[in-house]
Amino acid sequence: MADESNQVRTLLPFDSEAADERYDALTRIARRHMGVTTAAITLLDGNRHIQRSCSGPTFGTSLQRVALIAELADNEATLAVPDTLADNRYRHHPLVIQSPFIRFFAICAMRDTDGARLGTLCLIHDRPRQFDNDEFEALQDIGRLATLVVRQYHSPSTPTESAHRMALAIDGSGIGIWDRNVQTNEIHYSVGWKAILGYSDSEIGNRITDSYKRVHPDDLSYVQATIQAHFDLKTTSYEVEHRLRCKDGSYKWVSSRGKVVSRDMDGKPLRMIGTTTDITALRALSNTLQETVDLMTSLTDEVPGLVFQYRRFPDKKTFFSYASAGIKDIYEIDAAQVASSADILDTIIHPEDLAAYHSSLEESAARLEPWQFDYRVVLPKQGLRWRHGSAHPQRMIDGSTTLHGFITDVTDRKRAESELQIFASTDFLTQLPNRRHFMVELEAELARMRRYKGKSAAILMCDLDHFKSINDKWGHNVGDLALRHFANLLRAELRNTDVAGRLGGEEFAVMLRCTESDEAGCFAERVQLRLMETPLITADYTISLTVSIGISAANGDDHDASSPLSRSDTALYRAKTAGRNRIEHF
Ligand code: GH3
Ligand code: MG
Ligand code: MG
Repeated sequence: MADESNQVRTLLPFDSEAADERYDALTRIARRHMGVTTAAITLLDGNRHIQRSCSGPTFGTSLQRVALIAELADNEATLAVPDTLADNRYRHHPLVIQSPFIRFFAICAMRDTDGARLGTLCLIHDRPRQFDNDEFEALQDIGRLATLVVRQYHSPSTPTESAHRMALAIDGSGIGIWDRNVQTNEIHYSVGWKAILGYSDSEIGNRITDSYKRVHPDDLSYVQATIQAHFDLKTTSYEVEHRLRCKDGSYKWVSSRGKVVSRDMDGKPLRMIGTTTDITALRALSNTLQETVDLMTSLTDEVPGLVFQYRRFPDKKTFFSYASAGIKDIYEIDAAQVASSADILDTIIHPEDLAAYHSSLEESAARLEPWQFDYRVVLPKQGLRWRHGSAHPQRMIDGSTTLHGFITDVTDRKRAESELQIFASTDFLTQLPNRRHFMVELEAELARMRRYKGKSAAILMCDLDHFKSINDKWGHNVGDLALRHFANLLRAELRNTDVAGRLGGEEFAVMLRCTESDEAGCFAERVQLRLMETPLITADYTISLTVSIGISAANGDDHDASSPLSRSDTALYRAKTAGRNRIEHF
């Protein structure tokens, strides 16, 4: 048997005189199969043979003395005496000449693996009988079977030195040990067990009913159900946390763990041993921890947006080890959906922002620099929204990176920003790009032309003729209408790729991408023609307008936007001086 149970047994003496049901099936089989009046198993305890199981009439109290026969046969492995009265060794034995008047007996010795005598299987009959070879062999077989069973349950009743030392060590460790005889409902506790509850060694009885009285009433049914489940083989061991009443009436939290160490042939539990540990302090600590966690969770859940802890592993595996309740607003998912993998975000983040989202995180993790990123998400309920992420990375001992941070909704800010952007780049009167925006577009086009050599664009400068006189004649408001009128005409002539802007006053510029000067000339003619065909009509007047246009080509050699513009301006000047309503190329 395992050391563990030896040591428990030595601490808590088991009832060694009790008959043992574990062997009853064996003696029943032996009696029926061999056709004898009685079959018994006696086990050796120290120097004594103790009867453990008996099937058949016990011949009154005298069967206790069957043990003596076993002793007589101590040196024999298997022995059969067909007629005791005919055998000189036994004819005067008290069990033969007096009650129970044994006439036949057979004995099979049971030995441990090391050869030590464990006990004896005995067959007794009240009449002489012949015992042939087959029967002799059958007795040996049953004996072997019994030996296996006995070996399994047998444990020496004298403590070994190491078991004793271990028992002392366990008593000193604050762990209590108990040993329960499930059949007799007795339970024995170690000194250490009693100490946990503040009792001395002699203060606690052995009745299981008393021990249940010490369990907190609220925990009792749970404790009993857990034990029953283990008795019924539904669990491999018994483990439960519950409260126990101490000697002073206070309650302690304990962790109780145990296991049935022997069962009868039908699986019914016979003996169960286990430990009890005081977890009151642990429990208090875990309560404090739980309160802290609860506080943190409710705090982060109250913060608008998503508060998170995010893990990145070198193999690119990512997940959110913590995500506050705000994840429902930010991504319209649950924390559980990103707890083991963050891959689902690939279906939520706007496809155009996804690659940049990943590389921004990767870079932050690689360089351990704060993560800041604005990106769009596409959500089932909210639709297209803007998110701002911000976090601090930390390198872990296993090479992974943990980022702590938060993600907020910045859709309104982004909207305001883009409105401002439009505001800042649009001319209010004509709603065309303003000078600054036109210059930015032209600079960008120059940069593109520098990259893709050979491309050129046409730049047109348009200036309304005698505009000052319109203001003078009809008023400034009409002048404004004229500016808007021309802007609309111009806009109507543009391709998607073209850009027109109001540079100031009654001066407009047009950039025609990938356009040669001939084509640009045609465009200019069309604009002039449209303007002549379409006078400005107000409630009171019909006003004819004309425009002068200067054209030049912009290309990759231009240092900045002002160079092609000033060339077109030169051409425009020529158109003015040559009589207006004209087109001139630089
Ligand atoms: P030219 O044919 O040589 O171009 O003569 P012009 O009168 O068109 O040119 P000039 O530069 O002498 O006058 C431009 C006028 O445009 C002067 C200014 O008062 C007027 N102006 C500038 N901005 C606005 C505006 O926003 N609204 C109105 N109504 N007039 C403007
Ligand atoms: Mg002008
Ligand atoms: Mg003018």
